Amino acid sequence: MARIVVIGAGVGGLATAARLAAGGHEVTVCERAETVGGKLGRYVHDTPTGPFHFDTGPSLLTLPQVFTDLFEATGAKLDEYLDLLPLDPIVRHVFADGGPTLDSCADPEVFATRIAAAFGDRAAADWQRLWRRAGRVWDASWRDILRRSVDSPRDLAALAWRLGDLAAIAPGRTLRGLGRRHLREPGLRMLLDRYATYTGADPRRAPAALVAVPYAELTFGGWYLRGGLGTLADALLSRCLDLGVVVQTGATVTRIDAAGGRVHGVRLAGVAAPLPADVVVANVDALTVYRDLLPDPRRLAGLADRSLAGFVLLLGVAGNSGLAHHNVFFPRDYDAEFDAVFGDPGRGVPARPAVDPTVFVTVADDPMVRPDGHEAWFVLVNAPRQGTAGSAVDWRRPGLAQAYADRILDVLAERGVDVRDRVLFREIRTPADLDTATGAPGGAIYGTAGGLLRPANRGPVAGLFLVGGSSHPGGGLPMVTLSAQIVATEIGPAA
Ligand SMILES: Cc1cc2nc3c(=O)[nH]c(=O)nc-3n(C[C@H](O)[C@H](O)[C@H](O)COP(=O)(O)OP(=O)(O)OC[C@H]3O[C@@H](n4cnc5c(N)ncnc54)[C@H](O)[C@@H]3O)c2cc1C
Repeated sequence: MARIVVIGAGVGGLATAARLAAGGHEVTVCERAETVGGKLGRYVHDTPTGPFHFDTGPSLLTLPQVFTDLFEATGAKLDEYLDLLPLDPIVRHVFADGGPTLDSCADPEVFATRIAAAFGDRAAADWQRLWRRAGRVWDASWRDILRRSVDSPRDLAALAWRLGDLAAIAPGRTLRGLGRRHLREPGLRMLLDRYATYTGADPRRAPAALVAVPYAELTFGGWYLRGGLGTLADALLSRCLDLGVVVQTGATVTRIDAAGGRVHGVRLAGVAAPLPADVVVANVDALTVYRDLLPDPRRLAGLADRSLAGFVLLLGVAGNSGLAHHNVFFPRDYDAEFDAVFGDPGRGVPARPAVDPTVFVTVADDPMVRPDGHEAWFVLVNAPRQGTAGSAVDWRRPGLAQAYADRILDVLAERGVDVRDRVLFREIRTPADLDTATGAPGGAIYGTAGGLLRPANRGPVAGLFLVGGSSHPGGGLPMVTLSAQIVATEIGPAA
């Protein structure tokens, strides 16, 4: 049995802790915030008519099997803890030209029929051809990448070589390039491009292999958890506590102790004595690990290309808007949005909030999250991360966040959804707020931006492991949960 300290109680940290405790280890989780869940955050707003409950982070759960496996591996059943509801549509896509909307779903035949109805048979046939290729990329990714530790560029090259569809995953081919090659319908190209943002990237630079992301979503479905996605954090915490994990909140790790090529424990803010450990699992951003907790300039050097962040509006809305659960309102010029949020520091063009961004609106038809006759809206826009130079924006600048919130409501009105006179209250979460709440540097949602090769799960000293969205295999709830599986497997059960 090893003494294991997990730094951070995000989904990756809690999932690893539960697996390791089920494997017989003595596990302590140290979380700097007062609550668990990390980016899977929640906010409750009380009003005279009743409380509004918001998820402040994830709104879409994909690859449910990954969570079923997690609960089973810890000796429990997922449905005893969570109520998964399948979504159809998964996402309603609304285009700026005022043309037909397109509802995605988890049945490829039905989706093709919907594409044909919106854009014609030729567009549907294009999509189906792309889909066959996407299926091969998904199969190869699932088999060779998503459940394995990938520790070096050589490992990745070796894996890529084994992939059946090397052509689609080849370095140099982008998601944008793949869409341009297979899809003639501009609406479908936008739909495909948007999946680059699931890894915090610009579709013009993201690898074509990310076509596996829509494949997974539109094959295994998009799901909602009754009561909100935040119930996943409750379920994971409860699993950890049942398995004997010690979860300390308000416990900030300031350093990882290592000597002689292996870890010995961690230091906590305001606590003189070190917390000893045989194994340390860092669920914090890899940048935080290699810059602050165990400085390593060599590993830090690869982490400069940061993922985009998000600007979030939480709205209490009177009445019923008739929106789908998830709605994407695309702009006329998608590239202008990516030019804005990433900027071009090399040519001296700073990042800035996009004037006419894609707006993602989630409205759960769930009486548990809002009073009768009202809606709790989660509105998300891609945004540059927090910072004061180059590819970042200083979201703390007085007036900026409020002005941008107004702009987003105006954009929605321009796209046909004018909710301005029905907003009862609004809360704003900027990238700076995410940084403060979860320690994600600059509020970057996914650590580095979108590449296949992320920081390895094994750290540079024996006994150190990295888990979570900024390390392999990447961000998003299922990927983070897979990273927990990889790390728990590498550590193994107690002897
Ligand atoms: C706005 C938004 C929308 C999203 N939408 C989706 C979606 O629809 N679907 C989806 O699957 N994913 C979505 N994601 C991504 C998803 O939320 C993340 O990938 C995932 O939750 C990250 O989990 P993690 O394990 O990496 O840990 P994190 O959530 O990053 O948690 C890390 C934890 O470490 C703690 N910590 C930091 N520093 C220290 C320290 N020094 N000492 C102790 N503790 C520390 C933090 O407080 C935090 O609790 C979204 C994210 C955001 C922000």
